Amino acid sequence: MNLGVQYYRPPFPDAKYWKDDFKRIRDTGLNTVQLWLLWGWVEAVPGRFVFDDYDRLVELAGQRGLGVILSTIAEVQPHWIFREVPASELVDHKDRKVVSVNRGECHFGATPGGCFDHPAVWQRMRQFLTQTVTHFRPAPNIRGWDAWNELRWNVHAGAPVCYCEHTLAAFRRWLDEKYGGLAGLNRAWKRRYARWDEVQPGRYTGLPYTEMMAFEHFLTVRADRHARARYDVIKPLDPRRPVTVHADAPSPLKSGSPDDQPINRGNDWAFADGLDGVGCSSFPKWFHLDDADFGMRIECVKSAARDKRVWLSELQGGRAARGFQVHQPVDALSQQRWIWNGIGCGADTIIFWCWRDEVFGSESAGFGLAGDDGLAPERLAAMKVTGDLLRKHRKLIDGYWPSRPQVGVLFSPQSYYLNWAQDGNADLCRKAFQGYARALVRNSIPYAVVEEAHLAALRGMKILFMPRTLVVDDATAGALEKFVRGGGTLVAESECGAFGSNGLYRYPADRFTARLAGIREVGRRSLPGETLDVWCGGERLSLGAAQWLTPWTGARGRTRVLSQVADGAAIAEVPLGKGKLVLCGAYLGEAYLARWTADFEVFIDRLVRGAGWRPQVQVVSPRPDKDSFVYTKFGDSCGRRVVFVFFPPGRDEAALGFRKGFWDGHARGQVPGARRGKGPARGGAPAVRDIISGRKVVMEAAPDGHRCRLPAGAWRFAVLAGD
Ligand SMILES: [Zn+2]
Repeated sequence: MNLGVQYYRPPFPDAKYWKDDFKRIRDTGLNTVQLWLLWGWVEAVPGRFVFDDYDRLVELAGQRGLGVILSTIAEVQPHWIFREVPASELVDHKDRKVVSVNRGECHFGATPGGCFDHPAVWQRMRQFLTQTVTHFRPAPNIRGWDAWNELRWNVHAGAPVCYCEHTLAAFRRWLDEKYGGLAGLNRAWKRRYARWDEVQPGRYTGLPYTEMMAFEHFLTVRADRHARARYDVIKPLDPRRPVTVHADAPSPLKSGSPDDQPINRGNDWAFADGLDGVGCSSFPKWFHLDDADFGMRIECVKSAARDKRVWLSELQGGRAARGFQVHQPVDALSQQRWIWNGIGCGADTIIFWCWRDEVFGSESAGFGLAGDDGLAPERLAAMKVTGDLLRKHRKLIDGYWPSRPQVGVLFSPQSYYLNWAQDGNADLCRKAFQGYARALVRNSIPYAVVEEAHLAALRGMKILFMPRTLVVDDATAGALEKFVRGGGTLVAESECGAFGSNGLYRYPADRFTARLAGIREVGRRSLPGETLDVWCGGERLSLGAAQWLTPWTGARGRTRVLSQVADGAAIAEVPLGKGKLVLCGAYLGEAYLARWTADFEVFIDRLVRGAGWRPQVQVVSPRPDKDSFVYTKFGDSCGRRVVFVFFPPGRDEAALGFRKGFWDGHARGQVPGARRGKGPARGGAPAVRDIISGRKVVMEAAPDGHRCRLPAGAWRFAVLAGD
């Protein structure tokens, strides 16, 4: 496990601090430092690569027993780039050249620099990567490569990009491959283009969606391929070390803005297909993330990574700074909670941003783990405890793997593209997704995010939620039908599949939901009120609803109406094969995200249980309320169960239930050398210890398994490990 801290973003911190800082970093219990390797800094003169400062840092780290992660910042380019490679600027949607500047988070280098679709720009970027890896691979303390930091490429462009001739050529080539020629494109798009040069990417929102959605999709694929191209340079030169990339936020949270298309920095699932792992940045105090929000981020990354590595590549070190403001300081226990939450989600590398407070631009005076927000001593003391715990329980932590969830939430990039093509952001889709994910986290229902092009993840799942999935293509519909017929439950919201990825609307009767269910939506109606009455499990629930209502009509036979409105069913349940469809004519997740209701959480719980899911670990008390919930995660390590329990403020004890046989241990099939634990003797209580407090946990037999009462302890979380 790499537990480390970002240290060097040249030329800071000043060299006079390095030696003492590294000693202190090591004394704090951290084992790794990260260095930003800036192309613009290293090759400030064309063809001359200067690594002196980095050589010294890598050597000093080695002397202190610290590993080094090298972050290759090829997107902060040399200032000579436009002199050496003329006409390589990014071009915006109005065909204006983008002027490059120093980046807000970087003291020296051109941003956004030249377009990497320009062959000469890429050739020079590749040369930088090649020189760097060749130079540093002999150093024994290099731990790995973070090949693309926050996947940045269009920073400070100030408008949608890139429309340069090289990018447009790549766009047309991609369409040509995808549709098998211009005739295929015309068929799919229902157009009459005579030549490829007539095919233009979308330039403005609110116009026909077709070419805008196609261009958005292309930008995602373009970033996926660029990450892969960097990997393909680095990995063959240094095959033994992991090569990953990381986003500023996981893909489902990248809803874009008018100047910035959604998911245009690539798709985490595609990265994990080809690279050794995927990561993300998180600044929980800065952005006021609670356990549910933070857990959702890591869950997204874990879902994308599947069996690849998960990196928390930038985790907030100290108080954030953005100009002349004072943000919240970072207290030690919050920070420790993030670390152990990350471990619970399967992270194997955690890097704090950063060691010292920054010294330039709007970030100055902020972010230092050892910085001046007043809480550094307590943070470093706590970090030492965690460093010791990680060493003491190294085998348990290294072998840990989170349990495979049986509940899925669909992430549909195509639906985001549609939303942005209309609104200039995909916030509706993001919020719909967040609503469902949040309700599941708060209910302690383990879930995975299922990306629409990676539906193999449905194997073994019992239920899939499809928040605001307006775009569904035939292949996706086919896979979903198979899932339901095989016993799965599909929960769809209003106008699910109302559009194809060609941006064209389908009449209600032409959608896959109508074909499968034999009932259809009547069309958009104004919401009669802010809530819907829903009958579920013999109880009336009041659920918030957003935007509009599309009631379902034609219900007969085995259709069960859960919510009746004037024009039909607001929610209907229809059996299909061995499974069922739950069809909702409104948007429930966004309404819940905007205004919390206990009833939505009850509704979600009923649906997952109705789909056959049963909890392995249950929070018996306290139950979630508006402000707080006990957050749990669990998995296995070499045949031993591991359960993470996080207590909310004001709750000093929790009663937990464990399903019969839970503590008997469970080996992950693929792990070589994994053994089943011995488990409890017949009729005896399982032996369980909290590795944070070191205390034994008293387990009592219950009709359905075992129960325990767990005190919050000083750190307000526990990590229970079976013997
Ligand atoms: Zn370009």
